Amino acid sequence: MRRFYCECGQEIFFESRLCVQCRRPVAYFTDAATMVTLEGAADTWLVSGSGQAVKLCMQRELYDVCNAVLNLHDTYQQCPSCRLTRTLPDLGKRANILRWSLLEAAKRRLLYGLAGFGLPMQAPAGGQVRTLCFDFLEDQRTNPGVYEEFVTTGHDYGVITVNVLEADDVQRVWQRELSSERYRTVLGHMRHEVGHFYFEMLTQDRPTFIRLFGDPAKPYERALQSYYDNGALPGWQQGHISAYASSHPLEDWAECFAHYLHMADTLETACARQLLAPIPGNTDFEKLLAVWDDFSVTLNELNRGLGLNDAYPFTVTPVVADKLRYVHAAIQRVTGR
Ligand SMILES: [Zn+2]
Ligand SMILES: [Zn+2]
Ligand SMILES: [Zn+2]
Repeated sequence: MRRFYCECGQEIFFESRLCVQCRRPVAYFTDAATMVTLEGAADTWLVSGSGQAVKLCMQRELYDVCNAVLNLHDTYQQCPSCRLTRTLPDLGKRANILRWSLLEAAKRRLLYGLAGFGLPMQAPAGGQVRTLCFDFLEDQRTNPGVYEEFVTTGHDYGVITVNVLEADDVQRVWQRELSSERYRTVLGHMRHEVGHFYFEMLTQDRPTFIRLFGDPAKPYERALQSYYDNGALPGWQQGHISAYASSHPLEDWAECFAHYLHMADTLETACARQLLAPIPGNTDFEKLLAVWDDFSVTLNELNRGLGLNDAYPFTVTPVVADKLRYVHAAIQRVTGR
């Protein structure tokens, strides 16, 4: 993530709504892909400095679940990120609005990263071009009135489903421990699921894909059932970035895609803060990985210094590096970045 500043000079976050220094509202201006300071009020918001007339994203105005503004004359009332949300949980419950807000924040960061790579919101899936969209759903654990007993996070031809419970820290950590995972975040879910969305578009070099990840046509349901019944294969650590990645080649792909986005975002942040030397866009993968290997240890050490769990509890083995290199090359081939 780049660094952003309020007009007063105070540094602000990508997720900020208010400057802590001058108390003016700040916003993510989607047209300019940057954070801006707002002047005015109600229907007459202006970008401080440029004087550009803007309007709040409808979901910021109504529910405060978004921090974006749009050009005043934009025909849409919602920002590009909010427009991708297709289904919402019962908003009569305050808890769901808080969960929704956390899901939207993760989604905006996801989309910021995808835009950085020039990855589109439309991609081929199952014989036609689909547009990415999101369903944020409850199941009977939080709402006995809904049909679904359990909603699992997943992807189906461009529709990404996220159980809103994933936005509850206690529930997510409980699920993480139950699943013997070392990392479970809303952003991680979204980066993983969007990897499925881009599978057809990015894996045109299928022979290499099969050599590295295995055959994506392997019966999926049976493989997943076996994973949930028997756990990961012994020794998965040598060839997979996570235990779950060993469940099926398609899951391995999605996990590696997510990790590639984790690496890209974290390295951009580190460079923006001069923790690392600038990394030119055409840097080859081996160099990127060497920087990442070193920097991820720094990240973990920083966390340990604060008494926290490792920020990046993963090991990139040579086999995993080959898979990440495939992701890197696939994105470069399709987007030229
Ligand atoms: Zn300020
Ligand atoms: Zn919005
Ligand atoms: Zn998956």
